[in-house]
Amino acid sequence: MEYISTRGMSPTTSSAGAIRTGMAPDGGLYIPTSIPTWRGPEPLSAAAYQGRAAWLLAEFLTDYTPGEITGSAAAAYSSEKFPEAVAPVRTLTPSIHVLELWHGPTSAFKDMALQLLPHLLRYAVAKGEKQQRTLILVATSGDTGKAALEGFRDVPGTEIVVFYPARGVSPMQQWQMVTQEGNNVHVVAVEGNFDDAQRGVKALFASRDFNAALARRGLQSSSANSINWGRLVPQLVYYFSAYTDLVARSIVRQGEPVDIVVPTGNFGNILAAFYALLMGLPVHKLVCAANANNVLVDFLRTGIYDRRRPFVKTLSPSMDILVSSNVERLLFELSGRDSRAVASWMESLAAEGAYDASSLTEQLTDIFWTDWAGDDETLQTIGRVYQEHGYLLDPHTAVAWSVYEKYAAARGSSCPAILVSTASPFKFNRSVALALLGEEGVQGKDEFELVDLLARHTGWPVPVPLRDLKGKSVRHKTVCSPGDMGKTVLSLLDQQAK
Ligand SMILES: *Cc1c(COP(=O)(O)O)cnc(C)c1O
Repeated sequence: MEYISTRGMSPTTSSAGAIRTGMAPDGGLYIPTSIPTWRGPEPLSAAAYQGRAAWLLAEFLTDYTPGEITGSAAAAYSSEKFPEAVAPVRTLTPSIHVLELWHGPTSAFKDMALQLLPHLLRYAVAKGEKQQRTLILVATSGDTGKAALEGFRDVPGTEIVVFYPARGVSPMQQWQMVTQEGNNVHVVAVEGNFDDAQRGVKALFASRDFNAALARRGLQSSSANSINWGRLVPQLVYYFSAYTDLVARSIVRQGEPVDIVVPTGNFGNILAAFYALLMGLPVHKLVCAANANNVLVDFLRTGIYDRRRPFVKTLSPSMDILVSSNVERLLFELSGRDSRAVASWMESLAAEGAYDASSLTEQLTDIFWTDWAGDDETLQTIGRVYQEHGYLLDPHTAVAWSVYEKYAAARGSSCPAILVSTASPFKFNRSVALALLGEEGVQGKDEFELVDLLARHTGWPVPVPLRDLKGKSVRHKTVCSPGDMGKTVLSLLDQQAK
């Protein structure tokens, strides 16, 4: 199977080529030339999650050997990485089935893809012409950095450097990163905000001098962000896995549709559900849940994408985003793979901050239902769901729950819903504790006190990776200014080589 660019101006490449480069040279995103079809439960029902992942990867990554695929899936989703379960489905009401994607090493759903991507990338590099080692550069506002560090730690042939804004991440997220273990990992605080870190990383990718300096050290830079097909394809697996589980429990019969509800930011997770639908997963509606940064709500209702609005800081920070890069793949598919149209919409987005794809409105409203929830609704939902079901939602998942209730009220719920839960409630402990205990309950307490308090109050166990954090020692103390990021990377690599 070959891969083409959504903008139509790049040569086709293999799946390994798409994963190695991340993004097409014409600025577009890679897409497979054809979409495989799912013919029913057979390959999946008897398999554990690793086997389900191997089946799906083999459908898309046709230039990988069966051994590479099964080996990657087994390593990514081992019981060491996911001690309790990989992607369990928890039935809370006759219609709501929560798909928990936070049982990995960093307690957020980014692990589902970032545990697998390093293995896929390692083989992709081996299949390329140049046998260089890979340097992964990441700018993070929190969750992605930690998940990438855990995913790439001690993976042969790779080094990883994560930049985070010195005063721009939560104490828990910072502690998760600065205590990171592994022999190929580096973490640097940038004196600036997330935009400074992000701009700095982009400048490094583009810098000839920097890349030449890397080449002299036998390294080539690459990216682990969500435009890489290698990060998207692992996310299709859990939709098939969840549906298969519902069939096995007789909640649906094979072929009967489900609704899928996704808390959405960069549109990667819900786009994976859309590709599962294209492959033949029986989906009634994809419910796209947004927070106050509701650019996608307007787009999916009208076909008009307009990012020209204030950026709002919310209690669901991983969904605070105004430019959702993976929408480009959706436009490509719904326009009948019209790369000229996609290129012109993206040009308009870059030049004016908006584009008009209203020719697609009918398809968009047919496939998606969408709404958003504000911070007040998010906190109320956490409190109410805990009271009614004894179940803890993190703020992102609470946005999804709240929007699902709006959907059910507007449409009547005719079929079971898979509601995607993207983070452990303990990862966003302050908001969750606030919802349960009120302002007085959380005042003056630090992150670890809040974790303990939440565990005592609810009887829920603290996820092992978060519980163990407290006793870890700081391993990464490097701080640099935005202008010195390149120099800092090279000096970290050279110190390590000694
Ligand atoms: C990244 C993230 C999201 C948003 O997912 P997208 O694929 O970017 O739409 C939602 N919740 C959490 C906890 C996340 O880390």
